[in-house]
Amino acid sequence: MLDWEHIFATRSSRMKASEIRELLKLLEQPDIISFAGGIPDPALFPDEEFKQAYSDIFSGPQVNAALQYSVSEGYKPLRDWLAGEMGKIGIECTAENVFIVSGSQQGLDYLGKLFLSPKDTALVTWPTYLGALSAFNAYEPNYDQLNPGGNRTPATYRDNAAKLGGSVKFAYLSADFSNPTGETVDLEGRKKLLELADELDIAVIEDAAYQSLRYDGEPVPPIMSLDIARSGGIEKTRTIYCGSFSKTLAPGLRVGWIVASTPVIRKLVLMKQAADLHSSTINQLAIEHVASRGFDKQVAKVKAAYSARRDAMLAALEKYMPEGTRWTKPEGGMFIWLTLPEGMDGAALLAKSIATEKVAFVPGRAFYADGSGANTLRISFSCANEAMIEEGMKRLGRLIAAAQVNELTNETIAAI
Ligand code: PMP
Repeated sequence: MLDWEHIFATRSSRMKASEIRELLKLLEQPDIISFAGGIPDPALFPDEEFKQAYSDIFSGPQVNAALQYSVSEGYKPLRDWLAGEMGKIGIECTAENVFIVSGSQQGLDYLGKLFLSPKDTALVTWPTYLGALSAFNAYEPNYDQLNPGGNRTPATYRDNAAKLGGSVKFAYLSADFSNPTGETVDLEGRKKLLELADELDIAVIEDAAYQSLRYDGEPVPPIMSLDIARSGGIEKTRTIYCGSFSKTLAPGLRVGWIVASTPVIRKLVLMKQAADLHSSTINQLAIEHVASRGFDKQVAKVKAAYSARRDAMLAALEKYMPEGTRWTKPEGGMFIWLTLPEGMDGAALLAKSIATEKVAFVPGRAFYADGSGANTLRISFSCANEAMIEEGMKRLGRLIAAAQVNELTNETIAAI
């Protein structure tokens, strides 16, 4: 077999399948209860609405346009509709500020490409969305820890980046019900983040993939809306907002969007021309058809189902987790984040689970840009029913409790 490694570009060396992905493959067995995935429940997809949309498109005058190449910015009626939706959450903009991508994941790749030269620094939360790290990794950046609301000075960030041979280019975060922790950055944290971004003169990438899935508590204004309010208009903002239809309508159509000031949009359009010309025309038409007729109703349906599952999971955690285990109490989204007793390893626990309790979760370390976080794990409630949650949390509790006992025994042995 050819030795490809020396032919591949250096950037490809950071594109690796994680060991966790390999472990999770072993868990795709029928007797496993899995909370590892973070995908929407297909039972909630608006399939009838999409059937109607495609049928209307194919039987109407739009069919030729739907099957044809289209503009790189995206389908104008969809961008108009999105501009209206954004206005409702304080992001006053026009279709000129909205750019359609093939899933917000593509947006993250483009933003990495647009901002990061090798050795530049991206600020990300510890932990952060794994897909964002994968997207940015291809551009060979360094990472530094973003702690919205924290007290690290701009000079520290600047000096760290300079020592590593580049400069800080953006702060990336999923501020609402984040993947993986389910936590939300409060208003104070968002304001402080914008101040930090001002002082560093960097972009802020607001990943809003879960923003519309709030089940309780008061909505916190999007970072971009705060940026618009203080700067006096979208053209003066440094925030780049990434939206997605994947968690509300359906991920298979691969339609997401970016909202930004026009100089950023213009660059993204050039990138898209080079990458894939435009996102699927027909899928954009179908999304516009479904969203403009019943987006709010669909969001309400999805929220009702997920919030009941979240409640069931929080109740089961309370019931079954042993002393020393902590978890987040998300007000929305799809994830709960567990912190295991110090010294326990999430990946080792998953390996044990394959042999014993057969419950699947994602060990937390992969979400940390610095490889820390070994004693954490992510569980998702989005595709689980209440019986699964009850049984699964019982198993997980037993698994953690057994690991605690083993660790104690090992410690005792080591001390002797
Ligand atoms: N951001 C976050 C935080 C996510 O969890 C996901 C999907 N897992 C994405 C972006 C990408 O979503 P999509 O490309 O389907 O819009």
